[in-house]
Amino acid sequence: MKQDKALVVFSGGQDSTTCLFWAIERFAEVEVVTFDYGQRHRLEIDCAQEIAKELGIHHHILDMSLLNQLASNALTREEIQIEEGENGELPSTFVPGRNLLFLSFAGVLASQIGAKHIVTGVCETDFSGYPDCRDIFIKSLNVTLNLSMDHSFVIHTPLMWINKAQTWELADQLGVFEFVRERTLTCYNGIIADGCGDCPACQLRKRGLEEYLHAKSKS
Ligand SMILES: [Zn+2]
Repeated sequence: MKQDKALVVFSGGQDSTTCLFWAIERFAEVEVVTFDYGQRHRLEIDCAQEIAKELGIHHHILDMSLLNQLASNALTREEIQIEEGENGELPSTFVPGRNLLFLSFAGVLASQIGAKHIVTGVCETDFSGYPDCRDIFIKSLNVTLNLSMDHSFVIHTPLMWINKAQTWELADQLGVFEFVRERTLTCYNGIIADGCGDCPACQLRKRGLEEYLHAKSKS
């Protein structure tokens, strides 16, 4: 695998940055793709760009602003408040089929740049109700992409079965714990690193971080 090329779906957040380092360790050549769909914060794209630039990674940014025509939700429309899904409901950040679209575009791009491997940080463990983050969906899409382009892509999901604490552990094992902690953006309020501390994304990130640091201090 070390001679192969990989394309990482990259948002500049904790998960996809950890996946990027995971890919750098495994593949000879790595490029990243970020989807611009009118995120609440332009900063998210800037953050991804900065990281890619610093690591000397070729960065593709695809305009996916058409998603705004398809969905009214908190991540793409500033005026709508972010709410947590309750009782198994989907959270208000849900864009139906978003990963289907993103990964399909990633597949087309991968075929054009000659990348056999596609890496994505989707995770079933805390998948927040997004059906297209589930392992069964990714496996299904992998078959579909291969059939549609007569390719043999391999979609990698290093975070699929691990929780937030274990994602921090993975970053630590890859020797990039501090980098991921200080340089990535998870916060819905657009604050880099440890974020605002209050929004659902920050709370999830903080809980995982505390859990990991606690486990590490005892080992
Ligand atoms: Zn926050």
